[in-house]
Amino acid sequence: METPTFRHPIVLWFKRDLRLFDQPLIEFAITQGRPVIMLYIFEPSVFNSEHYSARHHRFVWESIEEMKRMAYLKNHVLYAVESEALDVFAALKKAVGNYEVVSVQEVGLEVTYKRDRQLKEWFHAQNIPWKEMKYSGIRRGLQSRKGFNEYWYSYMEAQQHDSDLEKIHRFENAQWNDWAIENEIKEKPLVEGITQKGGTLLAFKYLNSFLNERIYSYARSISKPEESRAGCSRISPYLSWGNISLRQVYQAQYWASKEAKNRRNFSQFASRLRWREHFMQKFESECEMEFVSVNRGYSALEYEGNQENIKRWREGNTGIPLVDACMRALNYTGYLNFRMRAMLVSFITHHLNESWEAAAAHLSKQFLDFEPGIHFPQIQMQAGITGTNTIRIYNPTKQAEEHDSEGKFIKKWVSELAELNAPEIFEPWKLEHPPENYPKPVVDLKASHKAARERLWGMKGNKEVRLEAQRILKIHT
Ligand SMILES: Cc1cc2nc3c(=O)[nH]c(=O)nc-3n(C[C@H](O)[C@H](O)[C@H](O)COP(=O)(O)OP(=O)(O)OC[C@H]3O[C@@H](n4cnc5c(N)ncnc54)[C@H](O)[C@@H]3O)c2cc1C
Repeated sequence: METPTFRHPIVLWFKRDLRLFDQPLIEFAITQGRPVIMLYIFEPSVFNSEHYSARHHRFVWESIEEMKRMAYLKNHVLYAVESEALDVFAALKKAVGNYEVVSVQEVGLEVTYKRDRQLKEWFHAQNIPWKEMKYSGIRRGLQSRKGFNEYWYSYMEAQQHDSDLEKIHRFENAQWNDWAIENEIKEKPLVEGITQKGGTLLAFKYLNSFLNERIYSYARSISKPEESRAGCSRISPYLSWGNISLRQVYQAQYWASKEAKNRRNFSQFASRLRWREHFMQKFESECEMEFVSVNRGYSALEYEGNQENIKRWREGNTGIPLVDACMRALNYTGYLNFRMRAMLVSFITHHLNESWEAAAAHLSKQFLDFEPGIHFPQIQMQAGITGTNTIRIYNPTKQAEEHDSEGKFIKKWVSELAELNAPEIFEPWKLEHPPENYPKPVVDLKASHKAARERLWGMKGNKEVRLEAQRILKIHT
């Protein structure tokens, strides 16, 4: 079988790195001096899997549409097809003969890991080289955190990838062109309530408005469900789908902070950028946490499995006002700030004693910024089953008093309580005549808090939990 030579094209396979700037794939092609085929594959097996939903499909489609237009302006074509990856690469082989593939290492779910293994075998059998480039500051196969920070900072501070499309040429082939047009990605329907649209231009718009203005209220609004919507950067979906690189955000905040009078907000933002990849590295090193407790000792925990309660949590009908307001806001808009995400997970796993998997499956579909590498480690941490982090059982009433003190957020999302004011709105079940159309609380918060405390603290002495905690500390910190 013929090996690809300088005459054969390089396929730049975009995955969750939907951008044409600070793009390692383009830099690689420039160094090779060979013609390119730019490719995105919308894979039904991935996007129909349990963690994705229509809001993700639309965001990806919007990102791709913009990339296509940007590529076109530089005399390039981005082929965006809807099919399974193996079928696409087989069609390409049939049309163009030999080629080489380059993509970025994916910090992904089992469904993409399995696809990659299947493809690797097929590429090998076809003598098609596949180069996987590093993903941002993450290192594949890392089994100890020694040197992680040094590597991360050196990557974030380094020059961005040369992504000048004018330095490369597109590869043309009529048969492939026809196939790609026939299998072009279909337009994905708009999803009501989702205001953040995909694309690099919007990513920079959010970043600039944050660094020039909104960042000055960052620290005081980050924990508040309403104020955080404008006071946080809202850059997460753009990072998760790769419309902008973490390095671009890191460097922009670095230069903006130089001009700033008060740097406290900047340093808080910068640490969260590092946390992002700290969590992703955990998942990269131990992706089994999609299915099992990272601390295997906690697999012994028993849950209620009460489907009615899980449904009430998912739909925001628990009768606990802040929990319901957060869930309804998230289900409609795709966004919720960090503290309220943690509170929702604490509520279902601690107060309702349901499994972390029940939380993960619903929330991943709702978060527009769903990023497996953050999602699973965070869910498990907030469920209190790592054995290495402080266990935090949130009291939703206290959270409402502190972070929605006038009850504005609750009024906005729980219309049944719109006539009430603080403090009654936080605990309507205590009223002599509670609103009839709002459900009674699904649990007694005091009793459920006590039961959760006993359950989780009781596990601390478990031998397997302690041994596992030592193992986790060795690998992940
Ligand atoms: C249960 C749970 C699940 C989560 N799942 C996701 C997810 O799927 N995708 C996701 O992007 N974030 C997730 N987060 C982290 C965090 O809530 C969001 O990143 C943040 O709310 C996004 O809003 P922002 O961009 O305005 O954040 P900002 O506060 O402006 O922060 C800037 C960026 O820093 C990173 N970041 C901020 N906080 C964290 C954190 N605690 N851990 C890791 N990275 C952080 C994100 O990339 C974020 O975009 C989760 C948190 C919890 C508690």
